Amino acid sequence: MAIGGLTTNALLYLDNVSVTFDGFRALNALSLSIDAQEMRAIIGPNGAGKTTMMDVITGKTRPNQGVAVFEASHDLTKLDEASIAELGIGRKFQTPTVFEMHTVEDNILLALKTDRRPFPTLFSKRTKAEKERIDALLERVRLTGSRDRKAGELSHGQKQWLEIGMLLAQEPKLLLVDEPAAGMTDQETADTADLLREIAKTASVVVVEHDMVFVRDLGVKVTCLHEGSVLAEGSLDAVSTNERVVEVYLGR
Ligand code: ADP
Ligand code: MG
Repeated sequence: MAIGGLTTNALLYLDNVSVTFDGFRALNALSLSIDAQEMRAIIGPNGAGKTTMMDVITGKTRPNQGVAVFEASHDLTKLDEASIAELGIGRKFQTPTVFEMHTVEDNILLALKTDRRPFPTLFSKRTKAEKERIDALLERVRLTGSRDRKAGELSHGQKQWLEIGMLLAQEPKLLLVDEPAAGMTDQETADTADLLREIAKTASVVVVEHDMVFVRDLGVKVTCLHEGSVLAEGSLDAVSTNERVVEVYLGR
């Protein structure tokens, strides 16, 4: 396939993407490519453009220039947020957004029922297939023992997992996760790394995180953003010893 004359096999392909806010370049000719079933860690100082990159991928922000292509055939710069979610791109924001008054199990059920569309319902009957999927999702996000608790009673880390479970109910092909370890205990952080590694067996994952212990745990290719472009990319060892990365980010 080709969009704008480009050929790619990547699941997600960004090229020369720029975003300008009132003359300030939040993204500056950013190019990045993610393979199917690849997990990529994104690091970089505050203001580097990490969240803005996710905004472009999910259609929340339109780039001023550049290419953003999903599955070599969908031009993300032309689609609205709902259509992009429908393609199988799920996004986990920093703050957990779960239905606090509902049980953990019902939160997952709501996510299953929404079928990537709004206006969920709890009142239709739960099929056997749905029950099996709920069980599997709860197990996956380590919340089987909390299924009957109100989501509002969960710890911060558990709420993050519940939201990840709700996203998994949509069977995303690409999951974007923004700073999941923030506010988590060390154990929750380690469990989250395990969970994301499991998810990456069947989907691509792009995870932004400052916690270098967590990033090391993931054991994946790392991209360091700075001033809206890629500063360095490669193994964590290579990136974290890169002189410029140390200068602008790690050495602070
Ligand atoms: P990061 O997630 O790497 O910390 P962001 O993508 O949030 O960085 O922000 C990149 C830069 O763009 C920052 O300087 C931020 O202030 C600016 N920015 C982000 N969103 C907006 C917006 N909607 N309007 C104006 N400036 C913005
Ligand atoms: Mg951010």
